[in-house]
Amino acid sequence: MENNIDIDYLRLSLTDRCNLNCIYCTPLERSRFLSRDEVLSYEEMVRAVSIFVKAGVRKLRLTGGEPLIRKDITSLIEMFKRIGALEEIAMTTNGVYLKGLAGALKEAGLDRVNISIDSLKKEKFKSITGFDHLDDVWAGIKASLRAGFNPVKLNVILMKGINDDEALDFVRLTFELPVIVRFIEYFPTNKRSLELSGALIKTQVLKERITGHFGAIEKISGVKGNGPAEYYKLRDSEGAIGFISGSSANFCGSCNRVRLDCAGRICPCLFSGPTCDIKPLLRGTQSDEELFKYVLGVFSMKSKFRKNISKGRQLEMSSIGG
Ligand code: SAM
Repeated sequence: MENNIDIDYLRLSLTDRCNLNCIYCTPLERSRFLSRDEVLSYEEMVRAVSIFVKAGVRKLRLTGGEPLIRKDITSLIEMFKRIGALEEIAMTTNGVYLKGLAGALKEAGLDRVNISIDSLKKEKFKSITGFDHLDDVWAGIKASLRAGFNPVKLNVILMKGINDDEALDFVRLTFELPVIVRFIEYFPTNKRSLELSGALIKTQVLKERITGHFGAIEKISGVKGNGPAEYYKLRDSEGAIGFISGSSANFCGSCNRVRLDCAGRICPCLFSGPTCDIKPLLRGTQSDEELFKYVLGVFSMKSKFRKNISKGRQLEMSSIGG
């Protein structure tokens, strides 16, 4: 590890734009999107990532906005792969475009994929995301399994009175498919999502509902991933379930990640908002060595967030990517 504070995980948002408009994120309602010139070029992203790698990052997650709306995404993954020291490149996507891309993404060097899906019912899916794309997402999930991604994780946000009636159906998927269904606690990130605060379902409540129906669940370790999720297996299931308790637990002390958005803004902490901007350096005359020192400086800021920052500023999830 090149940094002495154990940061080995970078989440890179490839775009602030999305092809869905989920009710808790509402990217299409933003007053302004970044212009082409404001967004880092692929070459700038690769240079930035290679500096983070030099500083100790070994795992990269591509997110957005929706990462798969970027053109020629497989070339970008190949470029990241050529950096060399990355142990894993993963992606979080809504899966709408995965059907046609899963095989090529795997071939390009993508190791893992997380697919967000908040309903298994067509009408409900449309009312949560604004679009009638459930069939496309399903085709994307199947294509990812066929392409050999392992594990394929499904990210689900259950909201009281909105889609929590589907909790057990999501669990049932793990009997049919070798997928890991992860229930993510909803947390408000902007003004609009604050209105949904009452919809939060805490992990503990959900666990009780699941065990009440299916019986005991067995905690498992060794699931590939870099986050604070806890994983469990149900008897005779092919896959597994996971819980991410972002609202009811605090992971600050063990947080190993930093975030870089598509405009070059770095967030040492999800709740800090963007605090540093690497774009002027990437577009200036600074050497790689100077960039490296800058990134190490950002990493050292992280230790202060570790002390417990979970009541910090709000930020747009739709541009920083979760
Ligand atoms: N477009 C991609 C997708 O849909 O997966 C990547 C971006 S999305 C912002 C990344 C993840 O953040 C998704 O799994 C989404 O469910 C989660 N997310 C967004 N807003 C959230 C919130 N308010 N609370 C918890 N998770 C959230």
